[in-house]
Amino acid sequence: MSTPDPTCIFCKIVEGKIPSRKVYEDDEMLVFHDINPWAPVHFLMIPKQHIASMAQVNDSHQALLGRMMTLAPKLAMQEGCRPYPEGGFRIAINTGADGRQEVHHLHIHVFGGPRPWAKG
Ligand code: 5GP
Ligand code: ZN
Repeated sequence: MSTPDPTCIFCKIVEGKIPSRKVYEDDEMLVFHDINPWAPVHFLMIPKQHIASMAQVNDSHQALLGRMMTLAPKLAMQEGCRPYPEGGFRIAINTGADGRQEVHHLHIHVFGGPRPWAKG
């Protein structure tokens, strides 16, 4: 794993210095509930290594990002999203100031649940 960024709140969550409600964890990624959910189901999927945003990804991250995206639907169902097509979920990756990114450690928002969510 690469060096954590000491100023990064999500690196601190990876290190266990800040608690989180974990959904899934393996060697390369951590998934936890958003502290301020926008929807009945709302979790964040992050690489354990500090990658600031989607603007920094490169070919070496392909397998990891692919694994995160293919795991997302499974975790969405596990966490209470209803099945497609009546249910489903939404995925968002905010990137940079124009993309409304506030925490600069790459994260995939997955949200849904049994009622309409806000526009986000
Ligand atoms: P962004 O706008 O960067 O895409 O979203 C960052 C998300 O991280 C927000 O939805 C916010 O609620 C969440 N968040 C910020 N700090 C913490 C924290 O300490 N713990 C958890 N679980 N979520 C956090
Ligand atoms: Zn970080």
